[in-house]
Amino acid sequence: MFEALREVVETLEIPPTGDALRETWRLVDQLTARAREATAEFDALDGPATEGALSTLSWLKHHTGMDDTVAGRHLKAGRRLRHWQITATAARSGELSGSQVEVICAQVPTRAVERWAEHEPLMVPTLVGGDVAQTRLAMGRWRQVIDGVDDEKPPAERNDLYLSVLPDGGQRIDGNLDHKTGAVVGDAIRAAMRPDLDGEPERTPARRRADALGDICALYLAHQNTPATARQRPSAHVVIDWDALTGMARPGSSHWLDGTPISNAAIAQVLCDANIHRVIVSGASAILDYGRGTKAVPTNLWTVIALRDRHCRFPGCDMPIPRCDAHHVNHWLHGGPTNPTNIVLLCERHHTLIHLPGYEMKLLPDATVEITLPNGRTLTSHPPPLTRAGPGP
Ligand SMILES: [Zn+2]
Ligand SMILES: [Zn+2]
Repeated sequence: MFEALREVVETLEIPPTGDALRETWRLVDQLTARAREATAEFDALDGPATEGALSTLSWLKHHTGMDDTVAGRHLKAGRRLRHWQITATAARSGELSGSQVEVICAQVPTRAVERWAEHEPLMVPTLVGGDVAQTRLAMGRWRQVIDGVDDEKPPAERNDLYLSVLPDGGQRIDGNLDHKTGAVVGDAIRAAMRPDLDGEPERTPARRRADALGDICALYLAHQNTPATARQRPSAHVVIDWDALTGMARPGSSHWLDGTPISNAAIAQVLCDANIHRVIVSGASAILDYGRGTKAVPTNLWTVIALRDRHCRFPGCDMPIPRCDAHHVNHWLHGGPTNPTNIVLLCERHHTLIHLPGYEMKLLPDATVEITLPNGRTLTSHPPPLTRAGPGP
């Protein structure tokens, strides 16, 4: 059997086309699913021990050249699939991708393996055809339900925290954190601990930890209203020669604040989605007037576009919202409107690309994006579906 398979693999010609590659990767995932299950069976039969290996993990590493992480992932998936008939069938048939299977395995805690076996008939059909992000979302919801239902949590997974008000109005904190939460909390507190500055009264380490925790919580409160569609971007300052930009003067007279020259294409990109301040100067350095900041794309409009596009709209790119700019398809400098019919999300890389000469972009009324490359080829990206409904567990 392996002879025949090897011959097929070795003589296989994979044309560099989308169809061929979709099919190839699906087959790779199907074969991976089979290999994972067989490995778990080998493990259950103590096969590695009969070959002198101390564990299945070390057997995999030694005989296949996998590293720890990859071997661990395959073994975990294989062991789980042995308990999950429907998930395993969908993995074998390629209906669930290998990455989706890994997301499922990661989201089902050891204590809930049997629970997933009960729920998979309902859940798996809702995951088929989805991408990894959708699978993660659905599994996260399932996990929340499970965590609410299971009250007998093993100590390793227990988190509890008590805040008690003291007679003097202060608070006492007591609690237990599991390994993962404890590591996050410890790292954050250590990172937020500030040394005593010159002239400050000296604090004990315990006092500095408490102050750090207060700082972390204050920072969280200051940012808690930031919606999921928020932009997280650094600010950049550009000094623009208006005449150069509007074509009335030679190019190359605009620059970053530190004096580095900036091209007109880069300026157009920055202006697509910027907070613009008007500064009127006289001569080289005297500032006569400094205007209020105006956003090229107001926050409400950004939210609408973010909800529609969900990620970078360059075909095939899924860079998430916080890493995207709002791009004016027809630039406002040339009279393009600032509304959803003229704005799409693009990540930094693709935003830079689309402003280069030779790239053409169209935004159709149904929010389909068409991009014509310098070689004349056209790529299309359809807007993601607004919601993906599916029954709960
Ligand atoms: Zn742009
Ligand atoms: Zn992109």
